[in-house]
Amino acid sequence: MKKVIVNKEKCISCGACVGLVDEVFEFGEDDLAQVKSNIDFANINEELENEIKDAIEGCPTEAIEELDSDDKNSI
Ligand code: SF4
Repeated sequence: MKKVIVNKEKCISCGACVGLVDEVFEFGEDDLAQVKSNIDFANINEELENEIKDAIEGCPTEAIEELDSDDKNSI
């Protein structure tokens, strides 16, 4: 799947993504959500991919964004 990032300017620390997919999302030292650094999005299984999509849809501020893997200008 495409790489996913948390746009910290939009995150309100509600915890939904971390509660839903703690394999992928965590809170940083700034108390905002972030994607764990060791996630290899190229080799993610279907079940986890669906959970990540649920987290994207469930984020109240649309802070979780998908990036094209070759798109380095998006952040
Ligand atoms: S669901 Fe969205 S707003 Fe809530 S903690 Fe995750 S990224 Fe932040």
